[in-house]
Amino acid sequence: MTNDLHKLYEAVFAASPDAVVVVDYLGIIIMVNDKTDSMFGYDKQELIGRSVEVLIPERFARSHQDYRQTYSDHPVERQMHNGYVLSALKKDSSEFHVEIGLKPIKIGRKTFIVASIKELSTKKTIENNVQKMIEDVQDFAILFTDIDGDITNWNKGVKRIKGYSEDEIIGQNLQIFHTTEDRKNKKHEKLLDEAIRNGKAEDEGWRVRKDGSKFWAYVSITAIHDDLQHFIGFSQITRDLTQHKTAEDLLKHQADGLKVKNKELEHFAYIASHDLQEPLSTVTSMIDLIVEEEDISKLNEDTQTYFTFMEEAVSRMRDLVKGLLDYSRLGKNKKLVKTDMNKILDDVQMDLSNQIQSVDAIIEVGEMPTIKVFDVEIRVVFQNLISNALKFIKPGKAANITVQAEDTGKYWQFSIQDNGIGIKEKHLNRIFVIFQRLNTEDKYKGTGIGLAHCNKVAEMHGGTIWVESEFGEGSTFFFTILKKIKEEEVSKGN
Ligand code: ADP
Repeated sequence: MTNDLHKLYEAVFAASPDAVVVVDYLGIIIMVNDKTDSMFGYDKQELIGRSVEVLIPERFARSHQDYRQTYSDHPVERQMHNGYVLSALKKDSSEFHVEIGLKPIKIGRKTFIVASIKELSTKKTIENNVQKMIEDVQDFAILFTDIDGDITNWNKGVKRIKGYSEDEIIGQNLQIFHTTEDRKNKKHEKLLDEAIRNGKAEDEGWRVRKDGSKFWAYVSITAIHDDLQHFIGFSQITRDLTQHKTAEDLLKHQADGLKVKNKELEHFAYIASHDLQEPLSTVTSMIDLIVEEEDISKLNEDTQTYFTFMEEAVSRMRDLVKGLLDYSRLGKNKKLVKTDMNKILDDVQMDLSNQIQSVDAIIEVGEMPTIKVFDVEIRVVFQNLISNALKFIKPGKAANITVQAEDTGKYWQFSIQDNGIGIKEKHLNRIFVIFQRLNTEDKYKGTGIGLAHCNKVAEMHGGTIWVESEFGEGSTFFFTILKKIKEEEVSKGN
């Protein structure tokens, strides 16, 4: 009887449609069935005594050894590599795809591993791997539904993101994830209709987990069709973007807060500079009165010097206060006007003609467009940038200035290039902040407000301003203007 049973086992082993390989603790093949030989292209008994790695492509052999070691230490019945499709190696070095089930068998004190190997077609391989991938993806909840939106299939992400287990979710309608408000508005139906109409529907919004908590979701729903193009249901992919949304909301909140603070600061600057003008003019007239009524030349030399310092300080303060007032007023009554930029540049050069002549400057202006801008404010920008280019020149060198305009698609980009003293790299951003100057007052006069003006005007036009420079060689200031200035841009700075 034992003999008969043994024969029966041998017959079953030989008849198995799968290749069956038995290895010992060290991974040495001790038994294979005929199917193994035919599947891997070996002659009978040829595999016995060899390491099982002979059946695996070389690039996987090393990791297989580690895998085998770990498995031998804790052997349990299961699919190899969690059910993913694996590559196997034939004797002629060609490769094919397999699915492998592992089962440990203990005989006495020895453990053997039985591997049953099923060959898969390429199509099946891809299907299996895609199916496994979908199941394993945790960052996305992936669901399949029938044509009514009732859930038929799910992946692990559903548990992680929405908190439902398989038996709780299968058969439920997609609307289960919607808020009461959205359910009332039949949002889920609208999304499914859209997916049928356009093949796909996307949405970002609040969804509800099993425990009632909400998360901010990105949802993409696709209508699915079978091979005959019959509509058979939907797939829905959901991603939890709550963290992203919270960070975005916080940023927006901070940006809004900053806008309000900026407005308050501008208002403060306006009031302060406006109110400072009066006491300042009182001081000026008092100094003038003393100078007129007293014979200053009779005062001692020190007092005369003090008076000169006082006059200079008051005059500088007047410039600063006026600059600040202009800065806070800039753009208050701005109007978008179709403007020929050639005209603006002619006017600016006319205004600066004294300065231009005094430094023998050559100003070349390239082709300029006619565009819609806040004309008064843009003129201030050119005025500031060109007068800086005339001011920050190298001693004894004639100023060479080039003004150009370039169409960059969404923006008009203007540049003002000079051959002046240049700016060190570490200062390139600093200079656009109000009152920031890099040179002493006695060398180059100024208030440090001009570039802050330009910055404000560029922002008003939905653009930016920046400078490229080589210290000692010259600088090029760039600013951009949005071609289609939107209402929101227009209202900025009001
Ligand atoms: P101001 O000209 O009144 O000093 P601005 O705001 O116009 O103030 O400029 C700020 C600083 O940037 C200047 O003091 C100067 O140090 C630097 N700067 C501006 N334009 C140039 C330029 N064309 N070349 C070199 N340095 C410049």
